[in-house]
Amino acid sequence: MLPHPHLPFHTVRRNAAGPRWVNAFALWATLACSAASVAIADDTPWVESCRIDSFRLRADFAVGAHDTLLDELGGLRRDVSQTLGIETTQQPVDLYLFGDRTAYESFLQRRYPKVPFRRALFIKNSVSRVVCAYRSEMFDVDLRHEATHALLHSALPRVPLWIDEGLAEYFEMAPAERASGHPHFESLASDEARPVASLASLERKVKLVEMGRDDYRDAWAWVHFMLHGPREAHEELVGYLAELADGKEPEPLSLRLARRFPDVEHQLVQHLAHYQHLQLARAISAPATTGTAGHR
Ligand SMILES: [Zn+2]
Repeated sequence: MLPHPHLPFHTVRRNAAGPRWVNAFALWATLACSAASVAIADDTPWVESCRIDSFRLRADFAVGAHDTLLDELGGLRRDVSQTLGIETTQQPVDLYLFGDRTAYESFLQRRYPKVPFRRALFIKNSVSRVVCAYRSEMFDVDLRHEATHALLHSALPRVPLWIDEGLAEYFEMAPAERASGHPHFESLASDEARPVASLASLERKVKLVEMGRDDYRDAWAWVHFMLHGPREAHEELVGYLAELADGKEPEPLSLRLARRFPDVEHQLVQHLAHYQHLQLARAISAPATTGTAGHR
């Protein structure tokens, strides 16, 4: 069996420049509840209540079976910060976890009656950041995905949609699976797979309804290229996010990458093919398992 690549991404550290958090409603405004509703008395019979790093967790079930996941959550803020060179705040994120869909839906109905149903949610308003999820078959992935959104929005006053989703798709995997274990590699290898969309076309999408299933995969692919591809690509990503964190309007990454790599789309294809081969080699050498459920 080939050795599994352990996060061969480029990590960076930037000096903290003080709190940069500025409340931004733009992206998540449609999901935001009123500040008043946050203060509604909560009658959910919580079984667990604890704090993990910046996450305040409440669960209506015993979370013991998910110890590993919770340990990972504790490291997620560090991973996001070190990988992207952004300073996530210690401002708490409230995690509400449910043992089944019925209890989850009931909670959402009481707390956020206007929010459309999704299997997991990140909800942001002027006073709180909340992640809600229930124990579906994709519970672990969903929780890491939404928690990543919460961390990004704690570090950046504005998070462009494509990179918000691309990074959430990347960090939704367990740490050891991020480099070469994402099901998106299988999707790309399919005979019916269409080529990855250009970065410029993803940058033009500003509403969630514009993001189709393939767009999540494509956003992830560009993020993967910048985290595991050429160091110069990672430098561009870090520089771009630093300008966002400082409240600037950075030059689009599509232009930054094109200047560094005139053949960037070709390099992306080669990069993904390399990691697809890695994943294929792992699949061949690994014992048969039950498959991984698809995500979005
Ligand atoms: Zn998302």
